[in-house]
Amino acid sequence: MISIALDGPAGAGKSTVAKGVAKDLGFIYVDTGALYRTVGLHFIRKGITTELKCDIESELKEIVVDIKFVNNEQRVFLNGEDVSEQIRTPEASMMASAVSAKPPVRAFLLDMQRKLARENNVIMDGRDIGTVVLPDATLKYFVTATAEERANRRYKELIEKGMDVEYKAVYDDIVKRDYNDSHREIAPLKPAEDSIIFDTTGNTLEQSVELLKKSIKERLD
Ligand code: C5P
Repeated sequence: MISIALDGPAGAGKSTVAKGVAKDLGFIYVDTGALYRTVGLHFIRKGITTELKCDIESELKEIVVDIKFVNNEQRVFLNGEDVSEQIRTPEASMMASAVSAKPPVRAFLLDMQRKLARENNVIMDGRDIGTVVLPDATLKYFVTATAEERANRRYKELIEKGMDVEYKAVYDDIVKRDYNDSHREIAPLKPAEDSIIFDTTGNTLEQSVELLKKSIKERLD
């Protein structure tokens, strides 16, 4: 099986780029952030705040997180309920970032991610795919862009979805999540030693998809 690890900070364009590449190569696109968001949604629903003053292990015992591919598109389930849309709010982003710093949460989601890569050709998007989840991935990329550019893209995306958000709040969220993700003790966001750095600043997402496709094809051939 072929696995392509695609790590990088929030809003770097990983998901759009990975979807384009997956379609082209006939791989499945796995968005691992959605799994952390699904766990986070459970905590939000329980009224727990991002300080997570609770017994994480016993919360995890209450949930089953599942991932399925419908027409090649990933859907995520929380105790059998499809929550693929509900996890896309700024609140769910912040909670995902909070829960993802907790070792029991990372352990809870690890096997599921590895199993997907064992059974399918995958392009997997996350923060620790090349460093922890798939250290033997066929190819590893670290996709990045400046915080301003990433906030701009995320802001436009949320506005297009009809959400009422302000640019400053989106920017602050991105900077805070970058900080959380790269400073946590377990599986911090950082390029794997053998990863290829792919900077999308100044490119449109379409250009980034084309450039990444080209790079992957050259390397896989
Ligand atoms: O990729 P996305 O922005 O949806 O991820 C939400 C949060 O989940 C990230 O800010 C990060 O804290 C966490 N995450 C992670 N490891 C991954 C994927 C996501 O810690 N592999």
